[in-house]
Amino acid sequence: MRIKKNDLLPSTRWSIVYIVVIPVVVCIFAGWNAYQRISEFEQAHYRVAKSTTEIVASEISKRIKDRQRSLSVFAKREEKLLYAISRSPDNEKLKIELNNKIKESFPNYFAVSLADREGIPIIDDFDGFVGELCEEDLKLHAKGMPQPMRVHPNTQQYHIDIIVTWNHDDGKAKNEINGGLLFVSFVPDFLFRLLELSNAPRHELMLINNTIKDLIEITEIGSRIILDRNDYRLTEEEKKRILFSSPVENSAWDLVAFRDETLFSEYRNYIISFNVFLLSFFILVSILMVALLLRIEKRRISAEETKEEMFSLFNHDLRAPLNSIFGFLEIFTATDLCTKNPEKCKHLANRAFDNSLVMREIIDDILDVQKMEAGEMSFDFGEIEIISVIKDTVEMNESHAQMNNVNLLVLSDESVIYIKADERRIKQAITNLLSNAIKYSPVNETVTVSIDREKSGVTISVSDNGPGIEEDFQALVFNKFAQSKSKLTRRVGGTGLGLAIVKHIIDAHKGVVTFKTDPDKGTTFIINLEF
Ligand code: ATP
Ligand code: MG
Repeated sequence: MRIKKNDLLPSTRWSIVYIVVIPVVVCIFAGWNAYQRISEFEQAHYRVAKSTTEIVASEISKRIKDRQRSLSVFAKREEKLLYAISRSPDNEKLKIELNNKIKESFPNYFAVSLADREGIPIIDDFDGFVGELCEEDLKLHAKGMPQPMRVHPNTQQYHIDIIVTWNHDDGKAKNEINGGLLFVSFVPDFLFRLLELSNAPRHELMLINNTIKDLIEITEIGSRIILDRNDYRLTEEEKKRILFSSPVENSAWDLVAFRDETLFSEYRNYIISFNVFLLSFFILVSILMVALLLRIEKRRISAEETKEEMFSLFNHDLRAPLNSIFGFLEIFTATDLCTKNPEKCKHLANRAFDNSLVMREIIDDILDVQKMEAGEMSFDFGEIEIISVIKDTVEMNESHAQMNNVNLLVLSDESVIYIKADERRIKQAITNLLSNAIKYSPVNETVTVSIDREKSGVTISVSDNGPGIEEDFQALVFNKFAQSKSKLTRRVGGTGLGLAIVKHIIDAHKGVVTFKTDPDKGTTFIINLEF
C-alpha cells in the first residue's frame, strides 16, 4: 500500500490509538478500582459493626442476667424480711430495713417494691416511682411470661426493672401471703458505659426498642431522657446510617450500630478525587503525547514535501540550464564554430554563462534555505548606512532590469540613515524583492525602491506595476517553494524560495516584512527595520 504524502505513518497512527486507548483502559480500571475500594471499606465497617453489636448484645443480656441472679440470691436471703413486709405493708421500720439492705447490695438502685404472686403491688408504691410499665412488667412476670427488659420513663430517672420471685413458708399461715415478687429499678448507667466503651471509631451504638417502632432507649450518653431532641424515634436519616443490628436476648431491645454522617461520603470523595486526579494526569499526558506525535508528523510531512519540491527543482529548474550549458559546450568542442564564427561563439558562451549564473543562484538559495531550517544562517550585524546599501543593490540589479526592459528608481528624502544590520543579508533580501518586481513588472514600467525614515526605524518599499498577487495565494507567499498557479505569474521561472529567504533575513533583524497588492496597480513589499 502506498502512503500518501499527507497521511500519518501507520506507526504514528497506532501510537495515537494506543495513547487514546490507555486513558480509556485506565478510566475503566480506575472506576472498577474505586468501586472495589469503596465497597471493601463499607464491608469492613459492616463487619466491625456486626461483630461489635453481636458481642455487646450478648454482654448486655449477660449483665442483666447477672443482676437477676444477684437479686434472686438477695430475695432468698431476705425472704423472712420480705414475708414480714408482705404481712405488714404499713410497717415503716421494715421498709426502711429492706431499703437499707438493698442499698448495701445494689448501691446504684433507683427504686424498690413488692408485689403479690399476681403482680399486684402489696405495699403502696415505696417512693411513688412505680409507673404503668412497671405494673405491666410485674403482671407479665406473674403470668410466668418472660418480662422483656425495657426502659421505664420516669420524671426523675429513666430506669430498668429487675423482677424476681420470692417464697417463704414457715408452715404457720395457710391462706396468707407466703410469696410474691420483688422488683428493683436500676439506673441503666452500666449499659450506657458499656456502649460508650465498645464503640468502634466513627460508630455509635444505641439500644432501640423493637416493639415500639424505632424508639431510642439508651445511647452512649444515657437513657433517652437526656437526649437533646424532641422526638426519640429514629429519623429517616439515622435509619440510613444503620450498619448492623443485633437483638438483645430477653429484652425489647435491638442493639444497633450507626456510622457517623460523613464516614462513607468522606472516603468515597477521597477515592473519587484520587482517581479523577490519576485519570486527569493520564489524559493530560496522553494529550501532550498526541500533540507531540502530531508535531513530529507535521515536521516529517513538511520534510517529505521539501524533499519532493527539491526533486522537482533538480528535475526542472537545474536540469534545464545544465542541459543548455551541456549543449553549448558540445557545440564548442565538437564543431569549429569558435574559429569560424567567433561572434556567434561568444554569444553562445554568454548564454552558457547566464545559465550557470541561474544555476548558482538556485543552488545558493537551496543552501540558504537548508541553513535557515537548521538555524545556521550566519549574520554579521554592524552599523550600516542603509540608503547607500540600497543604492548599491539597485545598481547590482540594473543589468537584470535592462534585460527585462524595466526601469529601476530609488527614492528617499533623506541623505543618510544608519541602522544596525547585516549588509550582505540586507542586499540579498532587497535583491530577491527586486528580482520578483522585475520579473512581474510589465515592460517599460518602473520598479521603485523607497527608503523612509520612521520614528523608530526605517521603511524600505519595493513597488512594481505588475499583475499583483491573487487573494488565494497571499497567505502563502512567504512559504518556501510557494509559487502561484495563476496564469499571470506562473509564466516566469523561479524556485519559490526567494520570499521565504527574505522573511527569514528580516525576522533575524527583528524587523517586519509585509506587502500590499492590487491586481490593477501592482505589488509593494515593505520592510520595517528598527534603528
Ligand atoms: P525564486 O525567487 O526562488 O527564484 P519565485 O520568485 O517564484 O522564485 P518567491 O520570490 O518566493 O519565489 O515568490 C513566490 C511567489 O510569489 C512567486 O512565484 C509569485 O507567484 C509571487 N510573487 C512574488 N513577488 C511578486 C510580485 N512582485 N508580483 C506578483 N507576484 C509575486
Ligand atoms: Mg523570487
